[in-house]
Amino acid sequence: MSNTPFTSKRAPYYADVPDEKWNNWRWQLSNRINTVDEFEAVLPLTASERKALSASNLFRVDITPYFISLIDPDDPHDPIRRQVVPTAAELVPFTAMMEDSLAEDRHSPVPGLVHRYPDRVLMLVTTQCASYCRYCTRSRIVGDPSATFSRAEFEMQLEYLRRTPQVRDVLLSGGDPLVLAPKILEEILSRLREIPHIEIVRIGSRVPVFLPMRVTDELTAMLQKYHPLWMNIHVNHPNEISLELAQATDRLTRAGIPLGNQAVLLAGVNDNVDIQRELVQQLVRIRVRPYYLYQCDLVEGAGHLRTPVGKGIEIMEGLRGHTSGYAVHQYIIDAPGGGGKIPVSPNYLLSYSDHKVVLRNYEGFITTYEEPEDYHPRDAAKFKGTKRPEPGQSGVHGLLAGEEMFIKPQNFDELHDRGGIQHRLKDARKWVPLGIGSGEKEDQEQSAS
Ligand SMILES: *Cc1c(COP(=O)(O)O)cnc(C)c1O
Repeated sequence: MSNTPFTSKRAPYYADVPDEKWNNWRWQLSNRINTVDEFEAVLPLTASERKALSASNLFRVDITPYFISLIDPDDPHDPIRRQVVPTAAELVPFTAMMEDSLAEDRHSPVPGLVHRYPDRVLMLVTTQCASYCRYCTRSRIVGDPSATFSRAEFEMQLEYLRRTPQVRDVLLSGGDPLVLAPKILEEILSRLREIPHIEIVRIGSRVPVFLPMRVTDELTAMLQKYHPLWMNIHVNHPNEISLELAQATDRLTRAGIPLGNQAVLLAGVNDNVDIQRELVQQLVRIRVRPYYLYQCDLVEGAGHLRTPVGKGIEIMEGLRGHTSGYAVHQYIIDAPGGGGKIPVSPNYLLSYSDHKVVLRNYEGFITTYEEPEDYHPRDAAKFKGTKRPEPGQSGVHGLLAGEEMFIKPQNFDELHDRGGIQHRLKDARKWVPLGIGSGEKEDQEQSAS
């Protein structure tokens, strides 16, 4: 890596730790910082931080010596500090705060398996992490060793996956799968690989960021036995991109694991377009493709880290077109109540008529695109592929495809019936479409051609 701006950092407190210890992930894990006294030795605390650390039922605190060393001790607003060192602001409740804002537990057919989308599942394999993010979306279970998943639950997760053939993508998360004992992680991967319909496995991990020394050659050699394997890491600020992280991502990509990044938009950390542009460009440099930028969830303790949605849109406006497309992540609001991930973006489509669209680019240049007047979508429609449909989840696309004519809120019909009587004007056939569905469309096309 030539002209690298990266340097290794160590807080002065660790100056005498021998390299073999410092670079040993087990040493890093067993020397994590979590008490006031430990903090004061490495990083003098503010009054607000001290207050938080002595509060009862504070979400678990742990910071690896490596990660705490990236903090500038003289800056109480350091962007890394804000992510991992609790302050009194965390103890303040806010409107709309929820324990499980994504309703994940409601979407779990068996404990630890969240089946929210048609073809993929989120599989929680541990509640432990290398360090704990103050805005953790899963703080209801994460950090609590007694909430972790049992072997019996793991077997239930596998059993569910074996009998659910529409699942082709399993996302391992937690907690952080890469803090598991290597043998256990390997067992999970190999058991998943025994299920033929599971095409890809993904790991969501912040270990490369909190504990890059964990990404050893032995680990990548094990992981690459289970391809196709993808990984998303979690970097929020360019200060997290160290020499050690760059080496870890290099080892992972050399093992053939495509890397993405999932960042969270956080007030006082990365809520600024210049920081975001620097972040995504530095990520691409270490061969990590920015994947999602999440709006901060409505989770306890994260109120002071939230931004308005407009901030995210402003950031996206400042990225798209202004830098490499590879560097542009997608801004996502994970809908409260279990609505799932919803992409949000500036509008580029300004207007349209029956054969023309009006668009604007990132510079404000306004242009038109003339559409074909003789378009017939025949060929694509004939492709059957390996689709494994799940009834009831065709969504808005199902409206376009003619599978459904509308999507109604629950009890819509009952409400609008107003408790009325069945009378002569109410003939159910009146609101059944005369011709809808692909069969009908093909007939029409055939007669037209
Ligand atoms: C985020 C998430 C996924 C994966 O979503 P992608 O958009 O495919 O990355 C799957 N299941 C659950 C429950 C999730 O929250």
